[in-house]
Amino acid sequence: MATFSNPAEIARETLKQLTVRRMAPSPDNYRTIYNEIAGIAESPAEVARELKSLFLLLPKETPAQQRLSRQLDQALRNQEWESYRKLLSEFIREHSGESEFVWGELIADFLQQWETRQSGLTQARKRESLDRVLSVSGRNSEILFGRLQHLIRSWSMNEVADDEIEVATAPESASASTPASPLAASGPQSGRASEILYELREILVFTLENVLTSLLDDAPESAAKSRALAAAVRDASTLKVVHALLADIRRFAFSLEFVAEDRAELRAGLLKLLQLMIENISELVIDDHWLNGQIEIVREIIARPMNPRTINDAEQRMKDVIFKQSQLKRSLVETQEALKQLLTGFVDHLAEFADSTSDYHDKIEHCAERVSQADDITQLEDVLEEVTREMRIIQINAQRSRDDLRATKQRIALAEQRIDELQNELDKASQLVRHDQLTGVFNRRGLDEIYEHEVTRAHRRELPLCIAMLDIDNFKKLNDSLGHDAGDAALIHLVSVIRETLRPQDTLARFGGEEFIILLPETSIEDAGKALARVQRELTKRYFLTNNEKLLITFSAGVTEVRPDDTQASSFKRADEATYVAKTSGKNRVIMA
Ligand code: GH3
Ligand code: MG
Ligand code: MG
Repeated sequence: MATFSNPAEIARETLKQLTVRRMAPSPDNYRTIYNEIAGIAESPAEVARELKSLFLLLPKETPAQQRLSRQLDQALRNQEWESYRKLLSEFIREHSGESEFVWGELIADFLQQWETRQSGLTQARKRESLDRVLSVSGRNSEILFGRLQHLIRSWSMNEVADDEIEVATAPESASASTPASPLAASGPQSGRASEILYELREILVFTLENVLTSLLDDAPESAAKSRALAAAVRDASTLKVVHALLADIRRFAFSLEFVAEDRAELRAGLLKLLQLMIENISELVIDDHWLNGQIEIVREIIARPMNPRTINDAEQRMKDVIFKQSQLKRSLVETQEALKQLLTGFVDHLAEFADSTSDYHDKIEHCAERVSQADDITQLEDVLEEVTREMRIIQINAQRSRDDLRATKQRIALAEQRIDELQNELDKASQLVRHDQLTGVFNRRGLDEIYEHEVTRAHRRELPLCIAMLDIDNFKKLNDSLGHDAGDAALIHLVSVIRETLRPQDTLARFGGEEFIILLPETSIEDAGKALARVQRELTKRYFLTNNEKLLITFSAGVTEVRPDDTQASSFKRADEATYVAKTSGKNRVIMA
């Protein structure tokens, strides 16, 4: 290349070279080529700029690199070239050493962080970050190393304490609005174990939310609890919350055992009822009326929400009805037959009598006509003979009728006697039935059986059972002033108010004339008292109506909880004593024993 001393020439040559070398005519390029042609060395400032641009290319991933970078930057600024040289060689040593033997440690660190749980970091998010690092680092292993180190460090800063560990959450790819299938979803947590835990959790949610609730459609409270637990399990974000939930779930599982027990009892009860109907169908089909009665009872029971108690009640009722009907059936057929004969006889006699008397009237009329038309006494002789003959016939008929009537009277007396006997039989039969004939609630016999059943049930489940004894206030006065029928109607009214106010599982029984017993299963003494107070309130709203007169019926009651060592007699005695206290302290009140 020719040498130029004239700046104008140098400038011209510089422009030429820019074109020849196809370089952009930027100030930097112009300056470089100008200096080259003029033979001028670069100024320290220009060297520093070059070094700065080199410095910017150096990796700054590891802490050592970052420290050295900072020191290099400082040396550059202060133009301390000696220290810059030292730092640069240290940087190169550091960099080359690392890339040769620290990958093993890095991978170990990476694996450890990959399997550790970090707050706010899902497995999916970690995988995403790793993908990003891999793609931006390209084939540059040094950059990859540094970026991986950086990634590991950022993960380790989010590590969480054990009891704050986030419990598996839904994979980020799954849409929040569509519930993930319990089996299809892959666990987002690190490690196989947490994946399995995640799946287990989803299955638990699915079971609580879908399977159990559909199985519990006849137990709405349990179904609601199941749904609430499912929601809580889904929302549980820390182990602490999960621990608390586990206790809840365990309790719920126990309560489900009772539901299952109830179901088994219900099934057995229904089967027994069905058997009873099938075995006794011949007894029941005495005529359509009776059969309809049976079907009505079963229909009523099925229409109401079923529980083992109502089924048991139905069974007892069916037994009562079958028993009574089998007693009545034979007698009814006999009595019907006797009545039919009696009526047939009457009708025959009446017809005969009517026939003969109308015949007699005709004859007498005829005779009277002949008498009026007779011309001499000889003609009257014939008429007299005819009259005498007719009178004799009438006399014979009357005598026969009198005999028949006497016989009929005797038969009626016999039928009356038979009816009395039947009545006695029925009275005896009534003592074997379990329901009170007037009010339809359990009688003492029925109460004894139900009491045993409820006590056994309460003991088995370790749940409280309360009994209340209830005696109508001033009932004698009501009877005396309004009559026995009004008294009966008042009893029926009270029973219907109690039944509608209490729960279906409570048992009401007539203990004596105007005394009742209520069994309240699964009820504390406080709640039993509240239930009775509710009945009292209801009675003040629903007056007893008789002869267009509104009457307020009140009662006095004693409530007690059945104790483990109680007999029926001892618990009833306590309730009775409390009732006595209620009576003597002013009536219309409930006393807890
Ligand atoms: P107290 O407030 O102290 O209980 O007074 P009371 O009048 O209710 O009690 P008492 O025991 O003296 O009277 C009960 C009455 O109940 C006597 C009887 O005439 C009547 N009674 C019992 N059983 C029946 C029944 O089946 N029908 C009717 N109408 N009355 C009955
Ligand atoms: Mg009484
Ligand atoms: Mg009374």
